[in-house]
Amino acid sequence: MTRVFSGVKPTGHLTLGNYLGAMRRWAAVDQHRSDALFCVVDLHALTVDHDPARVRRLSRQAASLLLAAGLDPELCTVFVQSHVDEHARLSYVLECVATDGEMRRMIQYKEKAARERVRGGSVRLSLLTYPVLMAADILAYGTDEVPVGEDQTQHVELARDLAVRFNQRYGHTFVVPRATSPAVAARVMNLQEPASKMGKSDDTGPGIVYLLDEPDVVRKKVMRAVTDSGRDVVYDPEERAGLANLLEILAACTDGEPAELAGGYDSYGALKKDTAEAVVEMLRPVRERHMELSADPGYVDGVLREGAEKARAMARPTVDDAYRAIGL
Ligand code: ADP
Repeated sequence: MTRVFSGVKPTGHLTLGNYLGAMRRWAAVDQHRSDALFCVVDLHALTVDHDPARVRRLSRQAASLLLAAGLDPELCTVFVQSHVDEHARLSYVLECVATDGEMRRMIQYKEKAARERVRGGSVRLSLLTYPVLMAADILAYGTDEVPVGEDQTQHVELARDLAVRFNQRYGHTFVVPRATSPAVAARVMNLQEPASKMGKSDDTGPGIVYLLDEPDVVRKKVMRAVTDSGRDVVYDPEERAGLANLLEILAACTDGEPAELAGGYDSYGALKKDTAEAVVEMLRPVRERHMELSADPGYVDGVLREGAEKARAMARPTVDDAYRAIGL
C-alpha cells in the first residue's frame, strides 16, 4: 500500500492556505487510499524566535484541527513529531549526506533568513538545516508520497536527492518519495498582498484567513481582499493576481474551475460575496468539531499517544538500518 506522510508546523494558527493546499486532501483522499501518517512538526517551530508555552499550545491546537478537519485515527496515524525520537536521530545522519551549499539554495531559507536579518535578529542554524529534518520526517517512514502545497515541493525534492545519494553511497535503505500538490489552490495567496503566500507565521493578519476565525471575520477579510482597478472578472494569475486568488479559493471550495467560474460574474463585489460564503460554509464543520474536541482534551491526548507509538514502531527499523548502513 502507498505510504503517505505530511505535516503542519505549529508556528501560528492554521490558515485557509494550510487547509486548501494540504489538510483537506489528507482527510478527503489520502487517508482513505493509503497508509498515511500526519504529523504536527513541532521541532520545526523552533527554527525561528518562539515562545515555548505558545508552541506547546499551538501544537495541541493543530492536532485538534487535524482531527476536526476529518482525519480519522482509525484510518491514519496522527502524532506530534517530538514524541518520536527517530526524527532527530535520522536527521543527524542525513546531515552527513547533505551539503551546506544545497541548504543555502533553499528558497524558504533565503526568504526567512532575510526577514530575520531585516528585523535585526540572528538566524538560527536550525533554520538552515530545517529541510534535512524534514527529509528525515519523510524518509523515516518509507514514504512514497508527500501531499503538500507548492511552497514545500523544493524541500521534498531535497528529500528525494538525499535518499538517492544515501542509497548510492551506503546501500539501498530509503524509499525515494515524491511530492503531490492539488490542481487548484496549491498556493493560496495573502488577501492583502497577492504577491505573497498566505503564511501562518506572517504578521499580516488582515490578509490571512485562519481556520478558527469567526464567520464574520472571514467575510470581512474576503470582502476587503486587494484586487485591482479593473471591472471585468477574468482568470489571469499573472496580471490579476488578487482576482485569480479569489477565483481559485472559490473554485477549491466548490470543486469548480477558476476560469469557468470567472465567466459567471460581472462584478468583483459579487465574486467576493460568494467566495466569503463558500469559505464560511466549508470551515463551519471544522470549527464546530474543533469546539467539541476542545471540551474533551483527554481524547486528543489519547490519539496523540497512540499515534506516537504506532509511528515509532514504523520508523525505528528504517532508522536502525540507516545507522548500520552508514557505519554506526
Ligand atoms: P506555513 O507555516 O507556511 O503555514 P506549513 O509548513 O505548516 O506552512 O505547511 C503545512 C502544509 O500547508 C504544507 O503542505 C504547505 O505546503 C501547505 N501550505 C501552507 N501555506 C499554504 C498556502 N498559502 N497555500 C497552499 N498550501 C499551503
